[in-house]
Amino acid sequence: MAYKPLDAKTAVDYLKGRAAVKDILPPNEEYIANELGDGNLNLLFIVTSRTNPEHTVVVKQALPYLRVAGDSWPLTLDRIVFETEALLLYNELVPGLVPRVYDHDYEMSLVVMENLRHHEVMRKALVRHKRFPKFAEHISTFMANTLFFTSDMYLSSIDKKQLQEKFINPHLRKLQEDFVFTNPFMDSPENNWNPLINDLAREVRSNAELKASIVRLKEAYMAHAQALIHSDLHTGSIMLNREDTRVIDPEFAFMGPIAFDVAALLENLILNYASQFVHIPNPDERRDYQEYLLDTIRETWDSFASKFSRLWIENNSGDLMPSKYWDFPGGDRAFTQFRHRYIQDLLRDMGGFGGVKMLRRMLGIVSVWDITSISDPTKRALAERFVISMGKRWILESPSINSVEDLIAIVREEGAKINA
Ligand code: ADP
Ligand code: MG
Repeated sequence: MAYKPLDAKTAVDYLKGRAAVKDILPPNEEYIANELGDGNLNLLFIVTSRTNPEHTVVVKQALPYLRVAGDSWPLTLDRIVFETEALLLYNELVPGLVPRVYDHDYEMSLVVMENLRHHEVMRKALVRHKRFPKFAEHISTFMANTLFFTSDMYLSSIDKKQLQEKFINPHLRKLQEDFVFTNPFMDSPENNWNPLINDLAREVRSNAELKASIVRLKEAYMAHAQALIHSDLHTGSIMLNREDTRVIDPEFAFMGPIAFDVAALLENLILNYASQFVHIPNPDERRDYQEYLLDTIRETWDSFASKFSRLWIENNSGDLMPSKYWDFPGGDRAFTQFRHRYIQDLLRDMGGFGGVKMLRRMLGIVSVWDITSISDPTKRALAERFVISMGKRWILESPSINSVEDLIAIVREEGAKINA
């Protein structure tokens, strides 16, 4: 079937003709489709039986342009292929941590998946100060497994290259390269920032040391094909409840630097931390919630690092370094040291990427609800100034940090300067 954007009516008719969804959507029932309006890039329909709420799916269809920018900004339709292929692989590597995929149709540029109707988008929940006791455990497993099992430590050299070929994803990568690493740091018409932080925007854009660090990180993003990364793993790409966590929306997936995924996640927890200076007026309550966010950051990093390391010890089957390579007196120790150093480097890259992403959210085209939901520009500037100080320090100081506590210490130091 040739590409045609669906609407609420045609979505139902379309699904009736798909054999792959007959079990989940029995043909003898009547269905209604609702379009969800909150995506940036794509069309999303929830299709549900009128008689049985369990008989429900989500249809995600790519549009030939960037939805938030209108049809003036063309985008390739094949991004749904990258999203679907990543979801299928994730379903193998981390079943239960992503929505199930029921069907896909690349001509129509769409995927049909599990409707996560008992989950909510994490970003919105954090703005309302909700807590998720199992989240760090779940997301660290997601990251450790998806990143380790697609790396050269696990895959054969040939398999790794084939994965690279499959996830080449040039157009969406270009979007991230421009909108994360470049345009926010120079004059570019789509940049959008609070005029009350003009002084900081100017300072960041003309800080030579900072800009040299950012371009180094950009090169790592462009060239360091370590593993299949989600590449947009912020709190808006996570749906969850107290018991269950799912990662959605991997349309930007490609073979990139491992630390970028961890950075995206922790950076968004910092943005939420910043927004709470305004969202929670009571200082005790605020401190309590901000400490919860820092605990989540610490636990996520520590669990990720130890799970990644354990997977490596137990599955060192890739062509990077066969076990025999370490087969010499003192070899075990050398391998252990190498692993520690590798993970230390991931932590440092993570701080750098996290810092760049903080700055771009304050100065570039796409902001986040945590911050934009602060309607008073003066109060918003207070949170934004905190984020910019944090971002600069994470970028400049990360090359010399030794533990996640060093990154957390920067948050506390900058937080102590805030007079909210
Ligand atoms: P986009 O790539 O266009 O930003 P997303 O994949 O982020 O689209 O989805 C947009 C919104 O649709 C999400 O914020 C969430 O509210 C909802 N959504 C996405 N996938 C599902 C799902 N599997 N089940 C329920 N809701 C979903
Ligand atoms: Mg998306």
